[in-house]
Amino acid sequence: MAAMKELVKGTDRYRHFIGGQWVDSTIKEWIEVENPATEVVIASVPKGGEDDADRALVAARAAQPAWEALPPQARGQLLRDLARLILENRERLARIVVAEQGKPLQEARGEIEGAALYLTYAAEEARRITGDIIPSDMPNEQVWIQRVAHGVVVALTAWNYPAALMCRKIGPALLAGNTVVVKSHEGTPLSALEIAQLSTQLDFPPGVINVVSGTGEGMGAALVRHPIPRLITLTGSVRAGKAIFRSAADDLKLLRLELGGKAPFIVAEDADIGAAVRAAVLSRFENCGQICICNERMYVHRKIADEFTARFVDAVKALKVGDPMALVDVGPKFSKAEVEKVERMVAQAKQAGASVLTGGGRMQGEGFARGHWYEPTVLSVNDNQMAIMQDEVFGPVVPIMAVTDFDEGLRLANKSRYGLSAYVFTKDMRRLMRLVRELKFGEIYVNRPGGDAVHAHHAGLRDSGIGGEDGKYGLEAYFQKKTMYINYA
Ligand code: NAD
Repeated sequence: MAAMKELVKGTDRYRHFIGGQWVDSTIKEWIEVENPATEVVIASVPKGGEDDADRALVAARAAQPAWEALPPQARGQLLRDLARLILENRERLARIVVAEQGKPLQEARGEIEGAALYLTYAAEEARRITGDIIPSDMPNEQVWIQRVAHGVVVALTAWNYPAALMCRKIGPALLAGNTVVVKSHEGTPLSALEIAQLSTQLDFPPGVINVVSGTGEGMGAALVRHPIPRLITLTGSVRAGKAIFRSAADDLKLLRLELGGKAPFIVAEDADIGAAVRAAVLSRFENCGQICICNERMYVHRKIADEFTARFVDAVKALKVGDPMALVDVGPKFSKAEVEKVERMVAQAKQAGASVLTGGGRMQGEGFARGHWYEPTVLSVNDNQMAIMQDEVFGPVVPIMAVTDFDEGLRLANKSRYGLSAYVFTKDMRRLMRLVRELKFGEIYVNRPGGDAVHAHHAGLRDSGIGGEDGKYGLEAYFQKKTMYINYA
């Protein structure tokens, strides 16, 4: 069998993983993978297209019936084994994530542990794939409702957590008896291919896990419009989600779309200011602000706004930005296009009246001549309609707005087309109870920073998507239900 990669002019050139084999693309074009901290090309991957998509989906379809016929516990055991191999390779995989994506090494280690956890959590569900037996209205009859797999699942993932997002999808998909074709974002394809390579050390039947590479518009779109997959699960932008929705309509494919966010961070006048500051910093600047649940806009009660803002700005100024392989708080933005987008958004916010409290430009000086560096930035604003308050930044920039009271904070927080996550700091239980119905977001963090649990539910409302992942509800998406009417008269 061909190897996963070969050395071409000094850098690794990877292949697709299809049907248990490393295969060359039918298109002789490659995508260069760049290190965001240095702009050095670290590898290349095939720019796959229609033919490669077809080969991968055919392999996945061929493998699916036998995979689903295995006892769930056997599927779960393979997921556990893959998780173990991922943890054994934690350091190597974390360094690959840093090199392709740019997050600080200690965060990348956490990502790899998270990737393994998604698999082991899915495996734990193996003995709980239950159905229902319900009484029939007819004599001598029972009605069975069973959960069965969809068939082939296409998993498309974003660049911000390339290893964890893959495992978040393949864990439940495979446990449920589906086979998968995974495509990571074209800028961060390496960790997924390396995880596929680890799977070859185990007894996964060929075709159960397939990992291909290519652009969204090329390979991604080809996978979505192909007739084989029944379920498409995407983590990515609203733009891609809508394009996929349109394409999948032709043959009514099922969709799970985990899209962007614009999380409000509300600080009431009774909040523990120190705790709120720490949570606000972490929830904005982790992964250089590139998390869908990041704190994207802050509403602070006017009575504490000056104190909160001063302490927050001090904490932001203390963040260490630099080489993500070193012990730093913030690495580079993921790409040139991404850092330019942030630059444009800050310029536009300034024009619209925002004032810069700290940061506001590219990082300067030694170590920042190459790479996509942007300063941790805090803006003061007083208009909720500004683009910086309405559009996802997905970077190290956060606007703060003072509000007259908690009700105004809630009202402005809800004025958003996004509905993924929200943060609230208050000690008032009556206010907390109001959030359940009045704050229109799928994931609400109260008096703590972000960070979702593998057994909870991660789902966005409105433009943030349809579906949801994790826990029992996330797993449910990978099953369809079949009802049998059993007459034994
Ligand atoms: P993206 O939409 O550009 O890409 C996501 C994936 O979809 C990639 O694999 C890409 O190649 C593919 N793709 C793009 N266009 C496609 C098309 N037309 N057809 C098929 N596939 C297509 O998103 P991104 O820039 O990688 O990720 C950033 C976005 O992801 C942000 O908005 C962020 O908030 C969101 N995100 C959401 C979650 C969540 O759980 N809700 C988690 C992480 C990131």
